[in-house]
Amino acid sequence: MKILVINAGSSSLKYQLYDMSNESVLASGRVERIGMDSSIVTHEPIGKPEVRHVSEILDHVTAVKRVTDMLLHPEFGAIRKLTEIEAVGHRVVHGGEAFSSSVLVTPEVKLEIRRLFDLAPLHNPAHMMGITAVETNMPDVPQAVVFDTAFHQTMPNTSYLYPIPTVLYRRHKIRRYGFHGTSHSYVSAQAAAYLQKPLESLKMISCHIGNGASCAAILDGKSFDTSMGMTPLEGLMMGTRSGDLDPAIVPFVMNKEELTLNEVNSMLNKHSGMLAISGISSDMREVTEAMNDGDKNAKLAFDMYTYRVKKYIGAYAAAMNGLDTLVFTAGVGENSAALRKAVCEGITFLGIELDEKRNSERSKDARQISTDNSRIKVLVVPTNEELLIARDTYNLVKQSEIS
Ligand code: AMP
Repeated sequence: MKILVINAGSSSLKYQLYDMSNESVLASGRVERIGMDSSIVTHEPIGKPEVRHVSEILDHVTAVKRVTDMLLHPEFGAIRKLTEIEAVGHRVVHGGEAFSSSVLVTPEVKLEIRRLFDLAPLHNPAHMMGITAVETNMPDVPQAVVFDTAFHQTMPNTSYLYPIPTVLYRRHKIRRYGFHGTSHSYVSAQAAAYLQKPLESLKMISCHIGNGASCAAILDGKSFDTSMGMTPLEGLMMGTRSGDLDPAIVPFVMNKEELTLNEVNSMLNKHSGMLAISGISSDMREVTEAMNDGDKNAKLAFDMYTYRVKKYIGAYAAAMNGLDTLVFTAGVGENSAALRKAVCEGITFLGIELDEKRNSERSKDARQISTDNSRIKVLVVPTNEELLIARDTYNLVKQSEIS
């Protein structure tokens, strides 16, 4: 079965075509600048050179059409007939309390995703456009949705409620939802497989550190707590997001700087984090380079960033009354030996012994970077959210065929 995985944003659409007989990627790519006259399609067929095409793509329906045109192209395509694509899986950021697992798209599911627009105004409307665009281009193909929040629906109320008037939870569903669930779910399962232990037997902290970053405490194989909250702003310091701060800062800054709600929102989401502190970049590579060249602000940004990861690891080890597996994943977590070293060196009291040589090595596979004597196993596990979306989509379609 061939499955197309789509991650639709408001002006972009990423895709991967999987052959599920061996879980291989046949082609991948992205459409950028949707809604503009110079949209760019970058198509990467496996084993063939990358293709770039600039044209006017005014909406998601046209974007999906261009994607299928690319996939069907006689020279750099990956399929001969559109019907070879037997299902489409979508990443959806917010599933609210309605979805604790992936589901096939039905009219009710679409209605529920629409109801959640309020909670994810930048993401869910764009995902809906992706779903509708696939319906238009491939009306008979089943679609599934995989939610970033679903994995965290197992959190107990002590983790997910905020200590604010409960009427706000009842009326507006203000609570912690958590994000990156697909990634935390995938890497925790991979880590358990690597260690050859049942996931349920491990007390694990998974650190998804990329442009966005979150830690998850995984107990009995389920999400017990996670650092992102009602929105992906809470928790760790990120590339451009502040993460945790005193909520009183918001009205104070609005008052002193005469900022509107939108402006303060934009400040915290787009102009804070590593970018604000380093004054250089939100990109860890550039910040690390500047730090190594002696830039003091870059060093401060790096130190604050790693300090906050460390604090969450300590907090979650306490929350779970123990820790035996620590996992690093995503752009920074997988690639920055410096970040992993800085985080692990400062928490040796927990029983972590980093193996410097293993930490500095590179690999595309899951690997251990702690010493053999380290009580806590520290692993680097490359995340693969697209593969998990493809797997969930495959399983849902197969189940529906049986029932
Ligand atoms: P993601 O959001 O998972 O794609 O991660 C993006 C982040 O990963 C950016 O901050 C990149 O600078 C960072 N990153 C990617 N490669 C490296 C690397 N080799 N060393 C340090 N950071 C990296």
